[in-house]
Amino acid sequence: MTESAHKSDKDPSAGALLGPAEIRDLAELLGVNPTKKLGQNFLLDGNTVRRIVKVAAVQPGDTVVEVGPGLGSLTLGLLEVGAAVVAVEIDDRLAEQLPLTVQLMQPGAALTVIRADALKIAELPGDPSRLVANLPYNVSVPVLLHMLEHFASIRTGVVMVQAEVGERLAAAPGSKIYGSPSVKAAWYGQFRTAGKVSRQVFWPVPNVDSILIAFERRSADLESEELRLATFALVDGAFQQRRKMLRQSLSTVLGGSAEASAVLTAAGIDPTERGEQLTVHDFLAIARAWLAS
Ligand code: SAM
Repeated sequence: MTESAHKSDKDPSAGALLGPAEIRDLAELLGVNPTKKLGQNFLLDGNTVRRIVKVAAVQPGDTVVEVGPGLGSLTLGLLEVGAAVVAVEIDDRLAEQLPLTVQLMQPGAALTVIRADALKIAELPGDPSRLVANLPYNVSVPVLLHMLEHFASIRTGVVMVQAEVGERLAAAPGSKIYGSPSVKAAWYGQFRTAGKVSRQVFWPVPNVDSILIAFERRSADLESEELRLATFALVDGAFQQRRKMLRQSLSTVLGGSAEASAVLTAAGIDPTERGEQLTVHDFLAIARAWLAS
């Protein structure tokens, strides 16, 4: 990609962002054929990028972690408002190109690129306070939970995920779509849907709808790591057999249905309830009773 290519092809309203022409140029230059395996659907539309940055309320001077910057569409939107970006990208070619693209489009912007699998990353520079990302769809929930688990500095964020997955993340107890991701997300804070995104703004066009999910982390994490692990094990047990009563669905985790009934009763939860009726605080109460038994 040359500077003149930018000047001639760029939509003037796009400013310092990538438009469809730059995305095409970059992909060609790198020989990138977007893969489903890595959930590569690149954002082509500057308005969507700016909308995400606005919903995330990114401020100048914020440090934002972005998982999967790809060709840099959203990265440039974050940098444009004066944030520092720490970008974690698994694809070598994309990770190598990103600093060059940013240098060309927004010289001097505060970008750090880390070539890594976000599911394995345990350290990040700069204590990022926000997570803003168009997540790879196939691993969106594990990546989100991994980031919240390992980086307590992340207080708030906006992620784009497959619509069905996002609605589950933000679901409340009692609804049909409430499940293990909803409870695990609620462990970390409040999640809400923040608007659908058209398929047409991606290249390639995905065969699923997308949605923005915004979250605010609790001011203090709920409990110790031991209690989190116990709670998550109970959540997995309860939703693996979501139609069954808790005394049955939790019998594998708790060592039998009589043991499950005793723990549930000690926690003040009716053993004949189902997991889909329980809040994260209910699951935490069961975990406490379990560890105390
Ligand atoms: N942010 C870019 C955009 O909006 O155009 C690209 C988003 S694309 C949906 C997902 C990106 O995540 C791709 O660049 C892909 O290579 C990267 N990715 C996939 N799995 C990853 C992982 N485990 N860790 C880090 N990056 C990953």
